Amino acid sequence: MALTIMATCSECRTYFPLDVDFDMKEIVCPACGHAQTGFTEGDVETMQRVAASQRKSSIASLVAFGIGMVAFLAFAACSWSGEYDEDSLVSVGLPVLSVIAAIVALVFGYLGSAKRFICEF
Ligand SMILES: [Zn+2]
Repeated sequence: MALTIMATCSECRTYFPLDVDFDMKEIVCPACGHAQTGFTEGDVETMQRVAASQRKSSIASLVAFGIGMVAFLAFAACSWSGEYDEDSLVSVGLPVLSVIAAIVALVFGYLGSAKRFICEF
């Protein structure tokens, strides 16, 4: 699985995308040629594991957001059409479901973007 992180060269401050790979022997700055030893296998495994779990969290966040939007739009449609009844499951359940889905989407969205790897060499 390809993983790209942002890297900064300590010599010329060039900021560039770096493809992280297991067989990466050294990191080379594309602007000035400054080079340093590449990541260890453990580093690469850690970065790939975190990236995979963040990808899953991002997908879960999008799904929760979608469920919340559908629940909210269904509630709005029912209210608009005059079918609003304070005691019905639709009138109480759909807003509650949309709020819960929004909170779940926020939590997974945070988990999906909390950790970023930055490489300065
Ligand atoms: Zn450089």
